[in-house]
Amino acid sequence: MLTNIAGHEGVGRVVKLGKGVPSDVMGKLVGIKWVYSACGECEICKVRYVHCPHQNNSGRTVPGTFQQYVVSPLKYTTIVPEGLDPEIVAPLLCAGVTVYAGVAQASKYITQGDSIVILGAGGGLGHLAVQVASVFGYRVIAVDSSDKAEICMTSGADEFVDFLKQDVEQTVKGLTGGIGAHAVIVTAGSEKAYESVPKLLRNLGVLVCLGIPRLDFHVPISPFEIIVRGLKIVGTSVGTETEVQELLKLTAQGKIKPQIEVFDFYDINDVMGKLSKFQVKGKAVLRLPQ
Ligand SMILES: [Zn+2]
Ligand SMILES: [Zn+2]
Repeated sequence: MLTNIAGHEGVGRVVKLGKGVPSDVMGKLVGIKWVYSACGECEICKVRYVHCPHQNNSGRTVPGTFQQYVVSPLKYTTIVPEGLDPEIVAPLLCAGVTVYAGVAQASKYITQGDSIVILGAGGGLGHLAVQVASVFGYRVIAVDSSDKAEICMTSGADEFVDFLKQDVEQTVKGLTGGIGAHAVIVTAGSEKAYESVPKLLRNLGVLVCLGIPRLDFHVPISPFEIIVRGLKIVGTSVGTETEVQELLKLTAQGKIKPQIEVFDFYDINDVMGKLSKFQVKGKAVLRLPQ
């Protein structure tokens, strides 16, 4: 981190315009995201700028969004459709769009009605992944502990598997004709979750990596197994402006509903404590002083 101000899912209203910014942007509800800016010129930018190696990130290379006033380049600023609640929009700007892009990645290899196992399905990323996968028309098998069953089912899961009480491999295979799921999305930063993936995927299946375990952890799968079984492993982080707008549209239609707990900004230290003990349901949103 090159800055001491965190935050990369910020929502607020425009109060001042820079040179050349159209005047109708004034007063608009906008979102500032992890990709604060990208170079816009490299070969990666031409394909998918959110993976630009020269990008600036809110809270990493430029001061983050835990501020009352932030400067943001218009090109990378999300104009939020009017009528959406800022507190609902905030967790969509990184968490939401990351799972949206993750499901979109899986969609390159699977079709409607195919099965997707979501590991960590009741978590902050997970419940949104369940909602997105369900909207895309996949058969969602949600895996988490039983206290998360309700949020998984209300998010649109077709099946729920309690990983503490059930044999996940046997249950998933039982639900998928004995051969495993078409896709597995890991939304938890759990090594155990990643370790279980090869047994949950059918041949030709795709693993989508979203949750981040410790950085030196490796998915335990050999090139031999990937080759023989024809498996695909993809990763993605955040999403493009087009994807953010698609997600906001689904949210405005009531199809995506992030579960949030709103806290006062000054309670940030308590919130961090709660997060470390998994005591926050869904995503924690901080309300900044006006
Ligand atoms: Zn670039
Ligand atoms: Zn994030």
